[in-house]
Amino acid sequence: MAGALKGLTDGGRPGEIREEFDLPGYRLLVSSLFSSPGSIIPGGIAGILTPYLCWLSSGMTIFMTLTIVVAVVVALRMMTVVTYRRREHADDSFAETRRWDREYFLGATVFSAVLGYSCYVALTQTDDPAAHITSVSSTIALASGYVARNAGRPKFVAVQLLTFCVPMAFGLIQAHNVYYQYIGYFAFLYVLANIAITNSLHRNLLALSDATKQSKALASALHSQNLTLDAALNTMIHGLAMYDSSLKLAVCNAPHRTLYGIPDTLALPGTPLTAIARFLIERQVISPDQVRETRRVLAEVQQSQQAASRELQTRGGRLLVVTIAPAAEGGVLMLTEDATERKATEARIEQMARFDELTGLANRFEFNNRLAEAFDRLERTGEPFALLYIDLDGFKQVNDSLGHDIGDRVLVETASRLRGAIRGGDLLARFGGDEFVLILPSASHSVVTTIAQRMIDAMGSAFQLDTKTVYVTASVGIAMAPHDAATPADLLRHADTALYKAKAAGRNTLTFFNPAMAEEALDRHEIEVDLRIACDERSLELYYQPIIDLKTQEIVTREALMRWRHPTRGMIPPGVFIPIAEQSGLIAAMGDWAIKQACKDAATWPNEVGVSVNISPLQFREPRRIVETVKDALITSNLGSHRLTLEVTESLLIEDNKATLAVIHDLRALGVKFALDDFGTGYSSLAYLSTYPFAQVKIDQSFSRDVHANEASKAIIEAVCQLARRLSMNVVVEGIETESQRIAVQLLGAHRAQGYLFGRPEPLSSITSDKGRHVA
Ligand code: C2E
Ligand code: MG
Ligand code: MG
Repeated sequence: MAGALKGLTDGGRPGEIREEFDLPGYRLLVSSLFSSPGSIIPGGIAGILTPYLCWLSSGMTIFMTLTIVVAVVVALRMMTVVTYRRREHADDSFAETRRWDREYFLGATVFSAVLGYSCYVALTQTDDPAAHITSVSSTIALASGYVARNAGRPKFVAVQLLTFCVPMAFGLIQAHNVYYQYIGYFAFLYVLANIAITNSLHRNLLALSDATKQSKALASALHSQNLTLDAALNTMIHGLAMYDSSLKLAVCNAPHRTLYGIPDTLALPGTPLTAIARFLIERQVISPDQVRETRRVLAEVQQSQQAASRELQTRGGRLLVVTIAPAAEGGVLMLTEDATERKATEARIEQMARFDELTGLANRFEFNNRLAEAFDRLERTGEPFALLYIDLDGFKQVNDSLGHDIGDRVLVETASRLRGAIRGGDLLARFGGDEFVLILPSASHSVVTTIAQRMIDAMGSAFQLDTKTVYVTASVGIAMAPHDAATPADLLRHADTALYKAKAAGRNTLTFFNPAMAEEALDRHEIEVDLRIACDERSLELYYQPIIDLKTQEIVTREALMRWRHPTRGMIPPGVFIPIAEQSGLIAAMGDWAIKQACKDAATWPNEVGVSVNISPLQFREPRRIVETVKDALITSNLGSHRLTLEVTESLLIEDNKATLAVIHDLRALGVKFALDDFGTGYSSLAYLSTYPFAQVKIDQSFSRDVHANEASKAIIEAVCQLARRLSMNVVVEGIETESQRIAVQLLGAHRAQGYLFGRPEPLSSITSDKGRHVA
């Protein structure tokens, strides 16, 4: 009871209240106390009337006093109720709510305590049965009203029951009437029973509130779960449909409806699969066969409880991947992926990974795979095969001079010409740039030769591209497996070596690999490595060979010829190391050095003696570089530009490159002269002589060698000399070794000559000034 009383005074422990209710719940509870002033008014009137009636009946002043006290308490309570109801309490804090709670119960408790006391006085101080009955009955009635009204606050009910009934019970027990005493004791039972009832009512109330809360929470959780599930289903990229065990639709998402074009009416739960299938067939989304197959898979999945996938090609051109998986209670889940784009992308990636974009031929990656396969087959079945390495001659020039568009078109056309020359099972691939490779399965030496020759012939005719006519030939290197190599890498290397030989043999031809080539290739590789070192260490030298004026026998020019003394191999001729330098890219630096060194050396010679420097066509690939190098060499050496001649070969001119022509003009503008070297060995187009501004033409030594015996040589020398005279050019005949050759070429009209007869190439140190300009 003490605890309950304490609860009354402090309005209940906030902890307890908080355990039972949260703040909104507490506010609701308190507002319910103030909710019906109607119940306070009759209770208040009854409360005032009880002591008043006792006063009327007994005439005792104490009752009038108690009447006034009750009236004041009732008035104060009414004021509290009115004040409470006038305000808004939605945002009341816990402390505010507790204050209202406390005020209400303070009023109620004072009310019940005063009435309880009034009843006690009526029973003990008067003998008036009317006062007794009025007091006891109104006390019991008011107490009962409290139980019913305040079941939500059992502790307060207990306190009020006690304050109402305990004075009454004591009053009854003190009376000398056994019935009164019986009722007095009974009052205690009444209090206890009512406390118990209130507690149980309270528990039920709590349980009910909990259950309501829980079911509300459950409902809201379910609702939000449904919303989430709905959103998740509909935002899935894949279509999803679930059928129950009797193949009636349980659920399907928006993508599923869209993918199959199913109307909303057929997407309702309970729709049989057969109805949907009928619709799909009628609308020609899928064929009856596809429906049958899908149903078969469905049945299989239901039976085996194992998921299965099928591809469905719709009539609208889409590719659907349908996965059917077992679901709960014998149902099935149907997941549909629109794989149209994915498959197309996969195919594109596969195509890009394996095939060359430009020509559509297999690419290097695919070729490597197929080569590995060919070796596997060779191991398993012993089937031999050939590898052909095809490289286009002169393609680089086409690309550089006519642009990449034309270059690309040449490659496309080449691919189609080569394709036309091979058999069905042969694999033609583009290896990169202008290199193609071909695997010829089970081909004999003669078949390989035939096919390779067919390809060379196919390339023989001109490429007609818009207004441009382009000639591109092919060189082919061939290696056979297992004869030439046992691994893909070796076979490729050997075919490449054979290709190199075919190129060296004058291009536009085919060459089979043989082991001697491998040694040579190895040699070349070693030479390249050593040449790089020689360049770095500046161990190259220039030798000089005189070119003489046949009339005066005086040296007019000296030709700079590069020399390389290899530490172990001895003197290596430029005919060997220059092509290697050209292929390895070393030629640019070597060429720069030769120009600068030759100018520097020539500056020490008599003014009338010039110097000739050989220039590789590859040096023209960097037009600005060669112009700058020459300028720099002339300035640094202080050599008059008219003393410098640059020797170029026809191969530079066939490219017909505008940039080359511009470089020639720029250099000529400096005062530098040009000589056409080795005339008669290449295309020997006389047209070049008139087209390009040469100061000099050098007839190749092969003509002077047989000038006596060969009428053709004679005729050519004579014709060139005549043309040169008309174009104001000098003619130098190379390779004069004998006096009779000298006389012969002089008679044919040559002005100048070069050869061992006049002097061999010698190091600078051997050219002494006292030798003067005259030769023997
Ligand atoms: P080339 O420019 O035609 O040089 C003439 C070649 O004929 C030289 O060979 C020379 O030694 C050789 N020769 C001269 N007179 C006679 C003779 O009476 N009889 C015989 N049998 N040969 C004679 P070399 O020095 O071996 O040079 C070969 C080629 O190497 C040169 O031919 C030139 O094309 C190239 N070359 C040499 N030095 C350089 C260079 O610095 N740069 C470039 N790019 N090429 C060079
Ligand atoms: Mg030369
Ligand atoms: Mg020459």
